[in-house]
Amino acid sequence: MRANVLVKPGQIELREIETPSPEIGEVVLKIRAALTCGTDLKTFLRGHPKFPLPTLFGHEFSGEIAQLGHNVGGFREGDQVMSVPSAPCGRCYYCLRGQDNICETAMAKYAHGAYAEYIKIPAHIVAQNMFLKPSNLSFQEAALLEPLACVIHGLSLTKLREDDTVVVIGSGAIGLLYLLALRALGLHKIIMMARRTYKLSLAKHLGAYKTIDVSEGISREMILDFTTGRGADAVIECTGNPTIWESAVNMVRRGGEVILFGGCKPGSTVTFDTQRLHYDQVTIRSPFHLTRASVRQAFNLLAERQLLASCLITDSYPLDQLGEVFSLLQRGDCIKYAVIP
Ligand SMILES: [Zn+2]
Ligand SMILES: [Zn+2]
Repeated sequence: MRANVLVKPGQIELREIETPSPEIGEVVLKIRAALTCGTDLKTFLRGHPKFPLPTLFGHEFSGEIAQLGHNVGGFREGDQVMSVPSAPCGRCYYCLRGQDNICETAMAKYAHGAYAEYIKIPAHIVAQNMFLKPSNLSFQEAALLEPLACVIHGLSLTKLREDDTVVVIGSGAIGLLYLLALRALGLHKIIMMARRTYKLSLAKHLGAYKTIDVSEGISREMILDFTTGRGADAVIECTGNPTIWESAVNMVRRGGEVILFGGCKPGSTVTFDTQRLHYDQVTIRSPFHLTRASVRQAFNLLAERQLLASCLITDSYPLDQLGEVFSLLQRGDCIKYAVIP
């Protein structure tokens, strides 16, 4: 099969490699859509601590079952399916405490390599986190299951009410998925911040209550008019920039919640005012990855077609143009690209 291999930072080669074949409990999917993701762009630019180069990559996908291993229940060859690239073990210390998002097995046995014609899905993922794709959902929308599940996991840590005002900093794919998920949960006052007009106008189109251009910098004052001078009930940071992590904590109201979602570069540190955290009783959460429960909820949201999720996919390209796709992503007036083998 043809598969894109990241040979070294910034260099992709479309290579002919052996098509995977399924062992017991596994399936091999023919990829019908793979989506680019911020993590893939970071991996492209500087490699990834968990995946030594050269490596296959791409982890947001949907497809058709090309081959089934023995003992796979509930699926047949030719089924159209959607999946996330990981699943928990269900037995470790973290899983037994309901924190299966940080299960060590989940990250160790991860299915990546979606920028290819086929991908092999390990048995524990097939058994827990793979679903039949509803026929009214496109393959591209179905491939949003993983990022949406991460966003839903983040929201599961909050105690938001429908009348809350939420500030989302960053209007890339994750920020916009937060907007869509919050709207689906019945919230209306969602203030979106970004540095690019393209992203702000898309946020507006997707139902943002206010959009704020932060290309000249970000400050608490920007939101006071929209929050009766109190600050936001919740602030969700989706940029992975340590300075923005610090700003997020200053924009929330007393007793409010901050979600620091965007992962920063290794070694980054941040400083918070202890008075702010303690006397204003600010709650900070920094959610990672997804849980089985959040995957199910994300699947239901996509299946019910409550989201305008297809708006997040800027364009699609064939497998042999992945290098061009990453150049486009670096230029920035885009959200996600679909790569179609
Ligand atoms: Zn992703
Ligand atoms: Zn586990």
